[in-house]
Amino acid sequence: MRSKAVVGNWKLNGSLASNEALLKALLREVPREAPAACAVCVPSPYLAQAGQMLKGSGIGWGSQDVSRYEKGAYTGDVSAAMVAEFGARYAIVGHSERRTVFGDTDEIVAEKYAAARRAKLTPIFCVGETLQEREQGRTEAVLARQVDALLHKCGVKELDGGIVAYEPVWAIGTGKTATSAQAQEAHAFIRGRIGAKDAKVAGALPILYGGSVKAANAAELFAMQDVDGGLVGGASLVAEEFVAIWRAAVAVVEKGR
Ligand code: PEP
Repeated sequence: MRSKAVVGNWKLNGSLASNEALLKALLREVPREAPAACAVCVPSPYLAQAGQMLKGSGIGWGSQDVSRYEKGAYTGDVSAAMVAEFGARYAIVGHSERRTVFGDTDEIVAEKYAAARRAKLTPIFCVGETLQEREQGRTEAVLARQVDALLHKCGVKELDGGIVAYEPVWAIGTGKTATSAQAQEAHAFIRGRIGAKDAKVAGALPILYGGSVKAANAAELFAMQDVDGGLVGGASLVAEEFVAIWRAAVAVVEKGR
């Protein structure tokens, strides 16, 4: 069975005090050894706090982006190696908010993925179509373009040890969730696209769903064959919600045993 994971994306939220309360609440519920991974991707200034509080626990931590550059005159950027120095395991790359608000192209996202790998981080590579693209019947073409850009730049073997997140843009932060059938269809397409290059890598690759995941819909989504957990925005800021979502992933693993 593929490994399962639930990863929180705090986005531009948090403070030292509120992070401490949230992480303490998560630490009370998530054991050191858990059948599904649990992690939080925090704003970079809070990596040190996450590292201090989560070290040795069953909860991983990571960043929400990394620079495509290693060092130099790139004011404001944070390199993957800097993120890794804080003990982080994960780095989200290509989140739709980075693509649309900050202009990350498919090529830039692929470079960020490569930078994260060089720093021995586990990249969480986000893909997904807009509402307009879905309505125009272009979902698969968009996913293919995004995935192919990564395969072209990095090669399929670089996906061994990475994570993909399918996040339909129309479902992010909108309260509209893809149906489990829509999610399954997109996940199977992504796995198939990668599988055409290397079936073994594709078969072992965790593909998370993201887009208004909540405690109320997580179990149904995670029960789908190609859905290996979730990338969770808003609900990851509420400890009980996030823990309930993570428990839904644990339940899938336990049922599969
Ligand atoms: C996200 O930020 O990756 C996300 C999926 O957000 P939300 O869960 O709030 O839709």
